[in-house]
Order: sequence, then structure tokens, then C-alpha cells
Amino acid sequence: MNTGLEAGRPESLRCEIITIGSELLLGQIVDTNTVYLAKELGRIGLAVGFRTAVGDRLEDIELAIRQALTRSDLVITTGGLGPTEDDLTRQAVAQAAGVELVYNQDLMNDIEVFFQRIGYRMPENNRRQAYVPAGSTPFPNPVGTAPIFVLEKDHRPIISLPGVPREIKHLWPSAVVPWIKARFGLQDQMITYRVLRVVGLGESAVDKVIGDLMKEGSNPEVGLLASLGDIKIRITANADNAEAVQALIDPVETEIRSRLKENIYGVGDETLEEVVDGLLRERGLTLAVLETFSGGAAATKLWQLPSRRVVTSLVIQDKGRLAEWLGQADLKSGPAVTRAMAEKIRDIYGASVGLVILGFIEDKGQIPEVVGNAAVVGQGWEKDFTWRMGGDRPMLQQRAAIIGLNTLRLGLLGQAES
Ligand code: ATP
Ligand code: MG
Repeated sequence: MNTGLEAGRPESLRCEIITIGSELLLGQIVDTNTVYLAKELGRIGLAVGFRTAVGDRLEDIELAIRQALTRSDLVITTGGLGPTEDDLTRQAVAQAAGVELVYNQDLMNDIEVFFQRIGYRMPENNRRQAYVPAGSTPFPNPVGTAPIFVLEKDHRPIISLPGVPREIKHLWPSAVVPWIKARFGLQDQMITYRVLRVVGLGESAVDKVIGDLMKEGSNPEVGLLASLGDIKIRITANADNAEAVQALIDPVETEIRSRLKENIYGVGDETLEEVVDGLLRERGLTLAVLETFSGGAAATKLWQLPSRRVVTSLVIQDKGRLAEWLGQADLKSGPAVTRAMAEKIRDIYGASVGLVILGFIEDKGQIPEVVGNAAVVGQGWEKDFTWRMGGDRPMLQQRAAIIGLNTLRLGLLGQAES
């Protein structure tokens, strides 16, 4: 029995997304429809229980739909609604529900009007699109020829959408959401999340500091997503309006910020380099960079942004040449030397700030190792950081770039406070 229907409580409803098309299985296109639909379903408070991708084979599509009907309250398919031989979704939905395809004159008229509007003669093939499963409710599709339709099987709706992402993005808010809301008596439930971005701490360190806030299934729910040198903290809340969602998220965000302080460098999609670039721009500062083992990775991140804050970036890896450049007989690494280099690169190129990442990768053991020094010198302020790390070279370089940029960020922030 489908209890979710009568209750109309979104948390009791489970949706399934079925994307149809052999090119999805061959890896020829990326399944962006699932991502879009999963996010959009979340916005109206519906959870996705399963997602399935299936090729252009009638039996497979029918099976996928049959299976979905055994375990989900709402099934959404995308793709396979076109006019060609391999567009089998109409037929598969009909078979899965045990009904015939029937001709619908209104749909035929819509399709003819569409072709008149774009000034083409309708190919005979497109007549197929006027056939829909008996008992289904068709929706017109003003942005394409494929009509979308909903068919209910034992009170479980199957909504069939075209494959073209642009068409889905048009149809979803204008036709599908209103239908789903009316059908399930949904309030405007919404799930919203905010992402806080952390640098300078490992995943387990972050977990130690905020682990007590990460109870699964709580509202809001706090989760961690770690990638190289970057951790995202996701605060997800569920309520029936935007203000209520905000009111749930805000105190948790405040609490997390009070614990992690300046380790939080940004929100949402903001990157570390964008934040650093923003600080430099805000203050009208320019930057000169000298890197060793990171091979220009730190400067490259800043070069990728449109602003022109970096006036010069140099890479020198050879110890002898570095010593010569610095005017010393023998180069010792360490914070003091790194700071001296940062001051020198700043002055030579007339920048307001100098950044240096110094270190020499050693291959003594099983994995390469480095002792890195990052130093930043501005006008009357400086900041440095030393670390030891082992790993493959690309990883050591990327980490060094992140640490270098973060040292710069912390230096700029510290300067604002003093
Ligand atoms: P049409 O009427 O255009 O044939 P259709 O409903 O038959 O539409 P498909 O033929 O399956 O849909 O797909 C049309 C195009 O939409 C594909 O070429 C592909 O580029 C894109 N597409 C299909 N499915 C997806 C998906 N899951 N994610 C992203 N793009 C997709
Ligand atoms: Mg097609």
C-alpha cells in the first residue's frame, strides 16, 4: 500500500529517477538530468530513493519502470520521447503499466502547430509522438515536439520528460512542479543547504572540532566533504519556507564559525584563490611570487582569475641559482631565508606584497617528501608557515600552492586587524 499518498508528507514520499538513452551507458554524455532533477526534487522537499540509467532497449526500460513502481511513490523518466525508432519510452511506460498506446488528436495538433511556428513541414515520424499510454494525462511541450505525460499505476505516477536538458529546465518549474504539488498536496517544503569552506585543517581535525554537530537525520544536518587541501562543511535544512530554512541554518553556521574561526575561508562555490584575489583587490595590492617545488602552481591559480593582481611570478628550483639570486654563498632553507626572499621579490618587481614557497622534494624513502616554507611579506607585516609532507609530486605541489595562498590570506587578514 502506498501510505505516503494520503498523508501527503514529503518525507514519506520516495522518488526514483530513470534516465533513458544508450549514450548514457556508453559514457558518451554526462547524465546532468539526474543531477538537475535530484536537486529540484529536494527543493520541493522530495527525497530520491533510487536513480537508474537504462539504454534504448524496450525490455530494459520496461523492467526499470516496473522495478521503480515496486519501491517508489513517484517515478520520473527522461529521454526516449523523440520521434525515432529508438525512442521507446512511450511504449515501455504503456507496457509496464499494462495499457495500450492511444492516439491523441490534441497532441497531434500541438505538434503541427510547433512545426508551423518554426517554419518546417512536419516529418511523418513525428506522428508517433501523438501516441501516449491510455489513461495518461499529456502536457503540452512548448519548447520541443515531445509531449510529456503522466500515467498513474496503482496510485504511483510515472512522469515522462524529454531528454534534452534545456526542455526539462523549461518544463519542470512551469508544468511538472505545479502538477506534483497538487497531486501530493505538498506545502512549499524546501531543502536548502549552505556550504562553508575550510582550509588548513585535515578532515579528522575538522571532525574533532564539530563532530558533535554531525548527527545524521537531524535538521539541520551537518556533513563533511573532503578533497585535496579543501574541506566543505554542508549545513542542510528542511522547512516549509525560505525564512524558516534560514532560521535553522544561521545558528549552526554561527556555532561552526566560532569553533573553526579563520580556518573557514569562504562559502558556497568560492575558491581560495578567489578569496585571496578579492582581499588583494579590496586593498589595492599587487603581488610578486617566487616558487620552487610547487612549479608555479600557486601563481597559476591566481593567473586563472581575470584580475591582474600578480605582477610577476618566477619559478626557480635549483639551489645554486636560488642562492645566487638571493646573493648568498650557500642557501639554507627555513622561515628566515624564505621571508628574505619574499621581501626581495616584492622589491625587485615593485609589488606591494611578496610570496615565496620554498622547498626541495627529496626521494630518500618510498615516497617523495618535502619540508616546505611559505612566507609573505607586505609593507610592515609578514607571515610564514612551515610544514613537512610526503606524497606524490602533483599532490605535494597542489598542497604547497594551497598552503602558500592560505598563508597570504592569513597575512592579509592579520594586517586588517592590527
Ligand atoms: P528528442 O525529441 O530530442 O529526441 P528525447 O526525449 O528522445 O528527445 P533523447 O533522444 O533521449 O531524448 O535525448 C535527446 C538529447 O538530450 C540527447 O542527445 C542528449 O544530448 C540529451 N540527454 C538525454 N538524456 C540526458 C541526460 N540524462 N542528461 C543529459 N543530457 C541528456
Ligand atoms: Mg531522441
